[in-house]
Amino acid sequence: MTLKKLPDNLHRDTLAVRVAVERSQYGENSEALYLTSGYVQPSAEASARRFAGDEEGYTYARSGNPTVTSFEMRLAAMEGTEAAIATSTGMAAIMLMLFSLLKTGDHVVYSQSMFGSTIKLIGTEFARFGVESSIVPQSDVAAWKAAIRPNTKILFAETPTNPLTDVCDIAALADLAHNAGALLAVDNCFATPILQRPVAMGADIVMHSGTKYLDGQGRVMAGALCASEKMIQEKFLPVQKNGGMVLSPFNAWVVLKGLETLDIRMRAQSARAHELALWLEQHPKVSRVYYPGLTSHPQHELSMKQMSGLGGAVLSFDVKADTPQAARAGAFHVLDSLQTLSLCTNLGDTKTLLTHAASTSHGKLSEDQRQAAGIGQGLIRMAVGLEHPDDMKADLLRGLDTLK
Ligand SMILES: *Cc1c(COP(=O)(O)O)cnc(C)c1O
Repeated sequence: MTLKKLPDNLHRDTLAVRVAVERSQYGENSEALYLTSGYVQPSAEASARRFAGDEEGYTYARSGNPTVTSFEMRLAAMEGTEAAIATSTGMAAIMLMLFSLLKTGDHVVYSQSMFGSTIKLIGTEFARFGVESSIVPQSDVAAWKAAIRPNTKILFAETPTNPLTDVCDIAALADLAHNAGALLAVDNCFATPILQRPVAMGADIVMHSGTKYLDGQGRVMAGALCASEKMIQEKFLPVQKNGGMVLSPFNAWVVLKGLETLDIRMRAQSARAHELALWLEQHPKVSRVYYPGLTSHPQHELSMKQMSGLGGAVLSFDVKADTPQAARAGAFHVLDSLQTLSLCTNLGDTKTLLTHAASTSHGKLSEDQRQAAGIGQGLIRMAVGLEHPDDMKADLLRGLDTLK
């Protein structure tokens, strides 16, 4: 299916609402949802050409679907890459990337602050197949450099990270990777292409969990890899066709429509998060706030340079206490006192979601590992949504002002 014809040099705002496959014969203005698993072939000859790859055209939804194509083209346009490939979840995108690019004996360098399932997938699951890996501190470029070996194929970074919002220097890591003949992949979930376009800073692959800000309203799971046309066609597509980690057309449609409001949501949610971060920093029961937009953030300047001057919509804060037990009790009290905001392990929603990292995302770590990762018992992550900031503050105060 061909892309809708659009003028050259359109702005990203315009691409976010306009890029899609051609309209059907019915002239729908909102993109069609093609909920079909198979496609009727115009002739046996055409079918043969399509299966041989000599002619464009859909055959079976594991190999492609027009609604999924619309999402892929729109996301690629926003990230500034030649192409994108959609997957069923964010983890399926990482799975597809690693499975497509690595073989036994290859080596991956990645950060210790990455998403928990990413660490398990590389360090445990791919290790079973003889893929080696080194885990390094997120913001220490020298440590990334020292970890590179002759068999290193991928440097994989996530910035900012969850829940402490550590930032790494994308351009510096891209240089390291390329000097070593390796690729830099960036998990761009937290910043989204609105704040940060890793490929413009030298990255080769951008990974997304569409489940988060791309959908933006907590409805569906989705994922994607953005990269060159060559890498998508030659590396990822063949593996996906045979591996089957495809995005459902329905979920693709939801996320496609989500992209239309991504810019205004990210800006509005970042502004609210910044206001909340400044406010929390002043609260006597809060010992520390983690947010790239604050001047107290260790990589504040780099963050502002890399993230279009915005801090993103996720912040974390430590409830003040003398012992880990008291900190945990304090954090639980704040969370249990919420009446408006949600105690919910997701992020990227228009609804504000709060979680206690030490007992959820980082609950399987030993206390020593947790300390090393900087995750205290009083730490609360807040993925800021679109409620009025005064209502968010009032909901937090219910707990913060009644702490023992
Ligand atoms: C949620 C998330 C993922 C995984 O995405 P799923 O859609 O849940 O599979 C990967 N990286 C980051 C940073 C995430 O927040």
